[in-house]
Formats: sequence, structure tokens, C-alpha cells
Amino acid sequence: MAAFVKTESGKRLTDMMTRNYFNNAVRAQEGGFVVWIAIVVPAEIFLGFENIVYAVPESFAAMTAARGFGPQLCQKSEKMGYSMDICSYARIDLGSGLASEGDASALGLPRPHLLISNNNNCSLLVKWFDVYHREWGVPHVVLDIPFCYENQKPKDWEYISAQFHDLIQTIATLSGQKFDLDKVREAVRYSSEASRHWKRFIRCAENRPSGITAFDSFVQMAPTLTMRGTSELAEHYRLLADETEARMAAGLFPVPDEKYRLLWDNIAPWHQLRKMQQRLAELKANIISASYTYCLGCLEGDYRPTYYSPDEDPLAYLARIQNFSICPQGMHLRRQAMTQAIERAGIHGVVFASNRSCKPYSLMQMDQQKYISQTCGIPATMVDVDHADVRNYNENNVFLRIEALLEQIDSRSEQHLKH
Ligand code: SF4
Repeated sequence: MAAFVKTESGKRLTDMMTRNYFNNAVRAQEGGFVVWIAIVVPAEIFLGFENIVYAVPESFAAMTAARGFGPQLCQKSEKMGYSMDICSYARIDLGSGLASEGDASALGLPRPHLLISNNNNCSLLVKWFDVYHREWGVPHVVLDIPFCYENQKPKDWEYISAQFHDLIQTIATLSGQKFDLDKVREAVRYSSEASRHWKRFIRCAENRPSGITAFDSFVQMAPTLTMRGTSELAEHYRLLADETEARMAAGLFPVPDEKYRLLWDNIAPWHQLRKMQQRLAELKANIISASYTYCLGCLEGDYRPTYYSPDEDPLAYLARIQNFSICPQGMHLRRQAMTQAIERAGIHGVVFASNRSCKPYSLMQMDQQKYISQTCGIPATMVDVDHADVRNYNENNVFLRIEALLEQIDSRSEQHLKH
């Protein structure tokens, strides 16, 4: 039987996240310079300054959706004229940000002095931040990060690094604060250490039965977005990996009678985490791995991590890892990393979640599905989801497809036994 318990790391995560939001609000009130950033903007740079508070609207939207408030905030922004076809993160954030006029005490994010987006995950995000730029008159820096059809080229690397230097100048001018590269070096060292422990945690999925579910990784990735570059994050992931390994050694597994080991491709369905995990466990199925979380700390197209070495230029390192998330990666790179994940974790089937809200993630999935089925010799299915707007999700339809996938896995293993 599946055992769903709140682990020590789960409790610590709740405390850390609550404290982070609270501290940000207090620091902003006390005069901190506030920036709102897209998730892949290298937050370690801000730690090089004296007092920069950074907030991440995408993370805030995911948390809001997980708490069940997605639809009501989406509806607020739809009433303001934003189409239901745009990303639900944007609709949640605009619904809360514009309605509250950025009032930290009401909704969690202190009002920004500067917006920093980038265009490598998607161009929608640039437009979304531009709304605040227009409505509130806040300056908006857009980092132009080249899409990578192939591995990042040296000229792209240099182009990105140069923009980081410009960004530092801009922040120094606007905030009046001094910048110290050694502080960034220290922050990058902590991020790299955090990645090392994160990978140790992710690799608990390679055990049979798996020591984790992908849902654990979805929840636990939150501080990577909001607390990058801190010793607290590195320590949290160390304890998370230690605790998970200790639970496995004690024979404690999320789905002890696991029969089906699945991989999820796309952002988490934040409104369904516990429910989906529970229903899958009743079918003896576990989504043990997810492209959204195994890519953290890796280079594009690779499941294996890459780490910072102390003699490296920290800004050059940050520029090199700018394409780690899946969206800015071409088909070939996505396939490469997914194939590695399938082989390492002994995956039986893949669930491609076609995400109505995130077109950049979903665009190549049909070709990807065909490729994985043919090349890796495992079945795959496609389900319709929306990561943060439950109104675009139909549980019965999704499980109909997943159950059909499990039947395909059964029939393949029966055939395998006959030969
Ligand atoms: S469309 Fe996708 S990549 Fe763009 S902001 Fe939304 S979730 Fe992020």
C-alpha cells in the first residue's frame, strides 16, 4: 500500500518558503531594491549586491495553483481582457498583481523596482512582464538568450555573458548599490552544491521500487527558484537526499508495490499533485521521473549534472547553464536527455502532458512521442492538461489514457515473456 507521509524535508520546505516570502516583504518595506525575475534569470547575480530582494512570479503562480486559488485569479485577469488561451501562470499573476496593485501584504510579492525577463523559455513571459512595465512604469530588462537547436555555441555563450555584465551595471545604477563578484562566486558555489544533492535525490528514482515520486520533485524544486545561491538551499537539499536515502534503507517507499515506472513530460499539474499521485498508486503506478525536474543543474540535452569549479568565472558559468530548462531546447537535445533518463531509471512508459497553457513545452511532443516509442521500445501516451488552471483539466479523460498505457505495458511484458 502507498504511504503518503509528510517527511521532515516536507515540513522544512514549508517553513523555508513561508519564511522566504515573509522576509522578502519585510526587506522590501525596509528599503530593499526589489526585482521580479523569470525563473531562469541567474538569481546568484543579485547576491553580489548589498540588498536586492528578488521575487519570482512564476513560482508564486505555481504555489497559488497548488493551493487551489488558480481559477479565481485566472478569472480576474480574464475579466480584465486577458484571453483564456494565454499561460495560466501569467493569468494568475496578473489577476493578483494588477488587482492588488502589487501590495505585498495582500498577496505575497512586494512591488518591484525592476523587472527582468528573458526570452529563452518563451516570448509570452516578456509580454507578461511588459504589462507591469506599462501599468506601473517599472523598467524592464529583457535578456536575449538564443534558442538552442544544438548545444550552446561559444558565440552565444559570449553574447549571454556580455548581457550579464550589462545587467549588473543597470542594477548598480538603478539601486545605487555596490557589486562584489566574490559574493556571486560564493552564491554559485552554493547553487552548485545544491545541484549535487538535488541529483542525489532525483537518482533515488533509479531504485526498484523508486524512493521518490516525480510529485516529490515538483514540490521540492520550489526553493531552487526562490532561494538560489544560498547556503540554506544547499543544506536543505543535502538533508532531503539524506532523508530519502535513509527511508529507502529502512524499506519505506512511496509506492511499495510499484509495478509501472512512468516518466512525465511537462510542467506539473499543480492542482492535481496529491490526487493524481494517490490514484496512480492505487493502480500500482508511479510517475518516478519528470523532464521538468531532472533537468535542474544540467546542461542542455543532458540528464547528467554539471558543476561549478572554484577557479571558473562565475558569470561565464551562469551563462553556460542558461539553457538547462527544456523549453529553449531543440528536438534532438530533448530526445537525448529523455532517452538517458528512460534508460537510467528503467522507465516502462511515458506520459506526455500536452499543456494548454505552455505551448513552448508542448509543441514538439507529438514527434517526441513517436520517437520515444520507436527508439526506446516503450509505449507512450498523450494527455491534455493545464498546469495551473483546473478548468482545463478532465481527470477521467486523463486516467482513461493512463490506464490504456498501463495495459500496453502489460501486453508488452506478456509478449516479452513468451519470446
Ligand atoms: S508559457 Fe510556459 S514557459 Fe512561458 S511562462 Fe508560461 S509556463 Fe513558463
